Formats: sequence, C-alpha cells, structure tokens
Amino acid sequence: MRPRFSPETYIQAILAGNKVMLSRAITLIESRLNSDNELAQAVIEGCLPHSGGAFRIGITGVPGAGKSTFIDTFGTMLANKGHKIAVLAIDPSSNVSGGSILGDKTRMQNLSIHANAFIRPSPSGGNLGGVARKTRETLLLCEAAGYDVIMVETVGVGQSEITVRGMTDFFLLLMLPNAGDELQGIKKGIMEQADALLINKADGVFLPKARSAKVLYSQALRLFPPNESGWNPPVMLCSALAETGIVEIWETLTRFREHTLANGSWDKQRERQALNWMMENAMLRIQQAFLENPFVQTEIKRLKEEVQNQQISPMKAADVLVNLWGSRR
Ligand code: GDP
Repeated sequence: MRPRFSPETYIQAILAGNKVMLSRAITLIESRLNSDNELAQAVIEGCLPHSGGAFRIGITGVPGAGKSTFIDTFGTMLANKGHKIAVLAIDPSSNVSGGSILGDKTRMQNLSIHANAFIRPSPSGGNLGGVARKTRETLLLCEAAGYDVIMVETVGVGQSEITVRGMTDFFLLLMLPNAGDELQGIKKGIMEQADALLINKADGVFLPKARSAKVLYSQALRLFPPNESGWNPPVMLCSALAETGIVEIWETLTRFREHTLANGSWDKQRERQALNWMMENAMLRIQQAFLENPFVQTEIKRLKEEVQNQQISPMKAADVLVNLWGSRR
C-alpha cells in the first residue's frame, strides 16, 4: 500500500520543494483509481495559485536527433547556473512499447543526478488526450515546487508535438544536419509551429552539412507568413555532445521571453492555452461520461453488431447512442 496523506500535506511539501512528495502526487495524477484522482485534483487546486512561473519549453525532433543528449547538456548548464529544471515527456506510443522511451533518466545521466533537476518519464496508458492532461497537471505541480525551466519532450512524428506546442511558451525543433532528407520525417506543419530550429550534431564531419542545412532551413522559414508575436524563428547550430552553441540557445530563449512579454503575446498565448485546455478537459469528461454510462455500454455492443451486419447505418447508430445518453444520464 502506498502511503496516503491529506491534500494539505502534499501541497505544503510540494511548495517546500520536496521531490519525493512531488513524485507521489504525480503518481496520484497518473493513477487509474477514482479515489486517487480526487485526491490529485485537490492537490492540483491547492498548487494552482503557485503555478505559472516557469519558462515552459517544448522540444521535439525525430528519434536520434539528439533530444535527450541536448536536454542533458542544456539542462545541466542551466541547473549549474542555479535554475531548477524539470523534464517531462509526452509519448503516447509508450502504450504500445510497454515502456517509456522519453524523459528517461538513464538517457540524461548528468541532469538526472543534479540536485536542481527533476525528471519524470511520460505517463503510460491512455490515449494522447489522457496523457496530455496528466502532463499538463504535472507541469503545474512542478511550477508550484519552484521549477523555473520546464522542458516537455516529445517525438516529432505523430500528433503529440501539436499537444506539446499547446502547453509550452517556446517550441524548439531539433534537426539532424542532413537537411536533404526531405525534412527527416518531420511533418511540414511542425516547422511552421517552431519558435526556433536547432540543428544538432554540428561537430566533426557533420559540421559542413549542418552549415548548409542552416542556409536551407533559413530560406524555408522565410516562406512562412510572419507569426502573430512578431518573433522571427531563428535557425541555430549546436553540438549537444561537444557542448557548443548551448549558451546561445539560452540567450535566444531569454530574448524571446523579453520580446513576447513586452508586446503582450506571452500572456495572450498563455490565455489561449488555458481556454483550449478548459475545452479539451470538458470534451474529455463528456467522452468519459458517455463511454462509462451503463445504458450506452449495453446498447453500444448491440449497435456495433448491427452496424457490422449493415442492419443500421453508422450515423443512425450514433444518433441512437447519443439520444439514449441524453435521456438516461
Ligand atoms: P533522441 O532519440 O532524439 O533522444 O537522441 P539521443 O540523444 O539519444 O541521441 C542519438 C544519438 O546521437 C546518440 O548516439 C548520441 O550520442 C548522438 N548525438 C547526440 N547529440 C550529438 C551531437 O551533438 N553530436 C554528435 N556527433 N552526436 C550526437
């Protein structure tokens, strides 16, 4: 049995920066038990007034781009400067693989043992919406615990990067030096969402390629319409292994924050994200309530068979289910 405490005990410990209690509270968020979730909600509510203070950075890139190496190097540099760094991850594919491949401590060897760092792997189980909700709530708890730089990592191959973009202030796209490879499996739309492109592995034999990739990507970015915040996404080079170009990235992030705070787009983006989150949460709750309704559960089985046997159209079957739910709530 896991020990359980009152919400107030969790909240006080989290505000005091207690990592063990922070981890336990996150475990409650990730739990499938309703009683755990109720406790988690009380803890989140209590932490909410103390959240919002971090620089939330989304990081994406294809597997092998160097995300974990970069986060390790970049995070350690900031932690050494006195920042408190939290690393979270969104990886819905961890359902399939059975284990998480992102936000894994073994992949961030220096940062994971740093006193100023907190690393939490992607929650497993559930669809992207569910995983995202847990990560968002975890982010708030980390802020209440005093983490002032929060990195949310994801693989840039599915839908999850859009989700990460929707919960962070700055979206960093990590690229490999071989630009020619048709954007390396990164969906075109993602480049448009990025606040900066970072070409990693700009070292040794890769350096010339990285430099020409920079020219190519800079040209590609110029084709996009200017974004609302008036920020021009730069293309940068770094080597997470050789630790070059890392300081410059923090300088860019700082410039971004100053720029967007000054023109109001920082706050506007946070507001927009909060409103989207409200609606997403409402939709998730409705979906859950619908699927858990006993009348719906019974009818859904029957209707599935009828749709399969072409006795009823999918549209008509959906109508029946929704009307039934409406009348039997
Ligand atoms: P991830 O899948 O995006 O998290 O990528 P990893 O951080 O696991 O890195 C994938 C591989 O690239 C590993 O073998 C790293 O050692 C290597 N790598 C990461 N960063 C660099 C870099 O800056 N330069 C070079 N040459 N290799 C790197």
